[in-house]
Amino acid sequence: MTKWGKRTEAIHGGTRRSQYGELSEAMYMTQAFVYPTAEAAEARFEKSGPDEFIYARYGNPTNRMFEDRIAAMEGTEDAFACTSGMAAVSGALMALCKAGDHVVSSRALFGSCLYVLEEVLANYGVEVTIVDGTDKAAWEAAIRPDTRLVFLEAISNPTLEVIDLDHVVKLAHANEALVVVDNAMATPIYSYATRLGADLVVYSTTKHVDGQGRMLGGAICGSRELIRGPIETYIKHTGGAINPFAAWTHLKALETLDLRVRAQADSTAKVAEALADHPKLSRMSYPTHPSHPQYDIAIQQAPSGGTVLAIEVKGGKEACFRFLNALEIFIISNNFADAKSIATHPATTTHQRLPQEQKDALGISDGLVRLSIGLEDPADLIADLNQALEAV
Ligand SMILES: *Cc1c(COP(=O)(O)O)cnc(C)c1O
Repeated sequence: MTKWGKRTEAIHGGTRRSQYGELSEAMYMTQAFVYPTAEAAEARFEKSGPDEFIYARYGNPTNRMFEDRIAAMEGTEDAFACTSGMAAVSGALMALCKAGDHVVSSRALFGSCLYVLEEVLANYGVEVTIVDGTDKAAWEAAIRPDTRLVFLEAISNPTLEVIDLDHVVKLAHANEALVVVDNAMATPIYSYATRLGADLVVYSTTKHVDGQGRMLGGAICGSRELIRGPIETYIKHTGGAINPFAAWTHLKALETLDLRVRAQADSTAKVAEALADHPKLSRMSYPTHPSHPQYDIAIQQAPSGGTVLAIEVKGGKEACFRFLNALEIFIISNNFADAKSIATHPATTTHQRLPQEQKDALGISDGLVRLSIGLEDPADLIADLNQALEAV
C-alpha cells in the first residue's frame, strides 16, 4: 500500500533489485523459471512466495514491479497487469460475473467496453442494464438487491460526461454490488475512484502510462482479496497477462507520468478556455470548465479535467473534415493521451459502426471532434486550432 506521495511511488514503488544492484529496473524476458531441485519445484508449485515465480502467464518479476508500482500510485493493495486495456476490462468483468447475474453500466463508454457488456456478457447469460450515467434517478432505478456489479467510465470517452461517483458507489454498496471504474480518461494522476470507494479501478495503460504511442497495456487495481483471488485466477488461466517488455516500458514511463499528465492537463485547460466561445463551434466540453454540465461535480471530484476535450464544429461532417484537414500540428489518429496532440472524428472512426440512434444517444454528432492535448507548446496548439477553424 501507499507509503509515499504519488510522484515518489511512481519512481520507487515496487522496485525489486537483483543481486547485481542495477539502477534501472531489470527486464526479465523469461516465460519460465528454474528450480535447484525437484523438491524446490514441488514446494514452489505448492505455494509460491512474493518473490517466487513459476510461469510468466502467472507472474514475472518485471510485471510484478509494474503491478506493485501502479497499485501504490492508485492507493490499492494490489494490481494485475494485462496485455491491453480491454484485457483488463473484459478480465475484470468476466472474472466477477456468472450467468444469471445482473450488471448496471453507464451508456457513454469506450466502444469495445460497450461490446463486452452488451454482446459478450449478454451471450453468457448476464443481464445488463444500461443507464445514462449522469442521471442519478436512472442509477437508483437500475441498481437492485441482486445487482452483482456496476461498471462506468469516470469521465466518458469521447463525450466527457462526468458521473457522480460517490452517489453510484453508495447505491451499489447498499445493494452489495461491486463498483468497477474504467479510469482511462481520469488518468492515474488525478484518479479519485479508489478514494471514493470503487472496488476495482481499471486502466488502459496504453493511454497516459505509456503516453508515447508504443505499447498496449492494462492494469486492474483493487484489494488483494479480489486481485489475487478471482481476477488473477481468471486472467492467468485465460492468458491476459502483460508481457515483460511492455511492463518494463511502463515502469520507465511511470517515472515521468506525473510531469507529463500535469503539463498536458494544464495545456488542455488553456485550449478549453481559448475555444470555449469560438464562433465556429456549437459546443466545447471539458469537465473542469465552468460551461460543462457536470462542472460542480467534476471540480469536487478532481483538481483537473484531464488531457482531453471535445468540440463540435458547426456545419456537420463537411465543415468538420475541412477543419481536421487544415490542422498542422494535431495529428489525425484514434489514440489519445499521447505526447503528440491528436484529433479524432469519432462518428467516422472509433464509433463508425454504432447505429445512428446509439450515436445520437451518446452525443456523437458529425461535428464532434475529440482533441487529445500533448506536450507541445500550448500557444502553438491554440494557434493551430484557430487557423484550422478559420479554414472552415
Ligand atoms: C483505450 C481505452 C480502452 C481500451 O484500451 P486498450 O489498451 O486499447 O485495450 C478501454 N477503455 C477506455 C476508456 C479507453 O480509452
